Amino acid sequence: MENILNSLANIIKVLVATIGLLLAQFLHGSLLAMESVETAFQAFSPSVQVTSQLMPQGTSQSNVQSNVQSNAQSPKTQTPKDSTRRYKGERASQKLNNLPNTQTTTSQISAANVIVEAGDKSVSSTEVKAASQIVKDISLPTLNTVLGLTPATKISIVLFSSAKTYGNALSKTGIDSSSIQSMISDTGGVTVNTTIWIPLYNIEDNSDLTNVLSHELFHACAASQGYGSQLPIWINEGTAWRIGLMAQQKVNPQKASSEMAYYENEVRQAAQNGTILSLDVSEKDILNANYNVEYEDFMAVEQLTKTYGVATYKTFIENLKSQSVDNDFQKAFNSTLNAFQSSFSKSLLISEQKSS
Ligand SMILES: [Zn+2]
Repeated sequence: MENILNSLANIIKVLVATIGLLLAQFLHGSLLAMESVETAFQAFSPSVQVTSQLMPQGTSQSNVQSNVQSNAQSPKTQTPKDSTRRYKGERASQKLNNLPNTQTTTSQISAANVIVEAGDKSVSSTEVKAASQIVKDISLPTLNTVLGLTPATKISIVLFSSAKTYGNALSKTGIDSSSIQSMISDTGGVTVNTTIWIPLYNIEDNSDLTNVLSHELFHACAASQGYGSQLPIWINEGTAWRIGLMAQQKVNPQKASSEMAYYENEVRQAAQNGTILSLDVSEKDILNANYNVEYEDFMAVEQLTKTYGVATYKTFIENLKSQSVDNDFQKAFNSTLNAFQSSFSKSLLISEQKSS
C-alpha cells in the first residue's frame, strides 16, 4: 500500500513539474522553467544520474570533441552564474602559503586521504555528507580514470555557509581586504596546497558543486603529488576545468553542455574581435579579460587531447616531475610548449576567419 502511495506521489510530482514547465514557458520564458523542472526531478531522484557521456573510456573521448564543437553551433545556451566559474578568487589565493585550520562541528571521511568538514555551525551534516559522497562517487574516480591521479597526502575540504563566515575565515589568513572581497564574491572554491575551502552560498546546485569540488580536488591532488603551481597556468587551469566539466556532466549533462557552449561562444567572439589573449599571458591580463580565459585554457587542453590522444595526455600528467615542465611536455607531445601555444592561438584565429 505504501509503495502504491509513493509511486502515486511521484507521478503527481512529475505532473506538477510538467505543468509548471508549460506554465512557466508562458510566464517567464523557457530558461527558468528548465531549471525548475530539473530541481523538481532532482528532489525525488534517489541518487545522482550517472551517464558515461564524457568518460574517456577507449575511443569515447571523441565525444568530448564533438560535444564541444556541436555546442558552438547550438543557439540555446544557459548563462552561467558568473561567480562560480571565473575562479578569480583562486588567483587572489596564490598570495597565500596556507589556509589556517578551522574549528569544525561535523566531518565526514570520503576516502583514505580526503576529509570533508563544516567550516561553520550553519553547514548541516547533510551538506557535509552530500559533498563527501560526490567526492567519493564522482570526483576521485574521475581524477583517477582521466589522469591516474590520487591524493598522496591528506586533503581537507572545508565548507562555509555564508559570505560572513567565509570572509571571517579568510581574514585569519592575513590576506589584504580587497583580495578577501574578490574571494568572497568571485569564486566557487579555493585551494592552497592540500586544503580546499568551498563557499556553499556561491554554489547553484549539485551539478555545480560537483564541478567545483572536482576542479579544486585536481589542484589539491596535484599539490599532494608535488606539482601544480609549477605548471603553466593554462595546463593547470585547463586540466582542472576538464575534470570539473567531466564530473559535472555525470550529474547534469544538459547544464554542463549549455555552460560550455556559453563560454566557448565568448572565446570565439574574443578571437573574432581581436581581444583574445595568448595562453602564456600574465595574471593581470587574465583578470582584466572580457571573456573567461580559463575556458580558453580548457580548449587548449582539449586540443592537446584531440591531437595526441587522451592516453598521451594522461601519461604526461602521470609523469610530471615539476623540475622541468618544458622537458616533460616535449617528451610527451614531441613539441615545445611555445610551439604548441602559438599553434593553438593560430588555430583559434583561423577557425574565426573561416566562420566569418
Ligand atoms: Zn583552478
